[in-house]
Amino acid sequence: MNDQPMIEVEDLTKRYAGRAAVSGISFIVGRGEIVGLLGPNGAGKSTTLRILAGFLTASSGSVRIAGMDAQRDADEVRRRIGYMPENNPLYPEMRVREYLKFRARLKGLSRGQSRERVSVVTEQFGLGEVSRKLIGHLSKGFRQRVGLADALVHEPELIILDEPTIGLDPTQIRTARQLIKDLGRKHTVVLSTHILPEAEMTCQRVLILHEGRIVAEGAPAELQQLMNRGGQILAEIAAPGAALRAAFEALVEVETVAVTPLDGDFHRCALTPANGADLRSQVFAVVKERGWELRELTRDRFSLEDIFMRVTRHEEEEV
Ligand code: ATP
Repeated sequence: MNDQPMIEVEDLTKRYAGRAAVSGISFIVGRGEIVGLLGPNGAGKSTTLRILAGFLTASSGSVRIAGMDAQRDADEVRRRIGYMPENNPLYPEMRVREYLKFRARLKGLSRGQSRERVSVVTEQFGLGEVSRKLIGHLSKGFRQRVGLADALVHEPELIILDEPTIGLDPTQIRTARQLIKDLGRKHTVVLSTHILPEAEMTCQRVLILHEGRIVAEGAPAELQQLMNRGGQILAEIAAPGAALRAAFEALVEVETVAVTPLDGDFHRCALTPANGADLRSQVFAVVKERGWELRELTRDRFSLEDIFMRVTRHEEEEV
């Protein structure tokens, strides 16, 4: 039973007034994963999360949460989900503790259970010092924590966070990211972000969404590898240009070699691997064997940001 994925989305489409915000996306999230939906504004992230959380109905396709149909078994599904919407609708005129108790009761917890759980999440999110304050008087960082506490109060298996660090200052962002990682130890977490380092730092897996479609998917490192195909090896070596070219062209895994003169005897060698291979050790071996002088050897890696740019640009070019 527990091998069953936490989320199974199949061919999900959502249209607003005939226009598709999400177009036939499919993905699976395993239990205990932290998965990020990454994409620019309007990519369809919030729409997807709202459907997962049962707050919006799909135009077509299916969503199963812990094996249950999100639409047919909406009440049961909602009990298993903690959802923090993008503009967390907190009640400014309520006090923190009062609000969390109200939310816990709304989610079906008994009076005793809610008292206990509110104490637990108050402790968990460091809300003790503000528990009697009006929500409207809290800083954005504390309000965000109240939102997380609210999402967690009924001990859901799945936590859905829409842009969880938006509007926070750098210190609050660091704290929030750590909180999310900690949540991932016990829960399944799906979050959306348009901030690339956030996806890299907090998520085990990333789905890149662009114009309502998933255009790339994988662990941040996998996506990097994917894009490393064609990633260059750069070396600065003191040796005759022709000898450098001949030596590197002789390597089986090298597809192209470009040699340009630098200062003194040095040349800049840019090698493109045939299959994404990391050629640094081979380059070093050649240099050592010939007794050449090497002053730089790097691999041109791409950040997720480059991937994102490339993937989305690629999509646009296809249209
Ligand atoms: P953002 O970070 O800006 O919220 P997003 O990736 O979450 O972006 P969505 O909010 O899901 O994107 O929006 C996807 C598309 O659907 C956008 O073009 C948006 O304008 C449109 N859209 C969203 N909600 C509605 C709505 N209620 N009615 C009509 N169109 C909508």
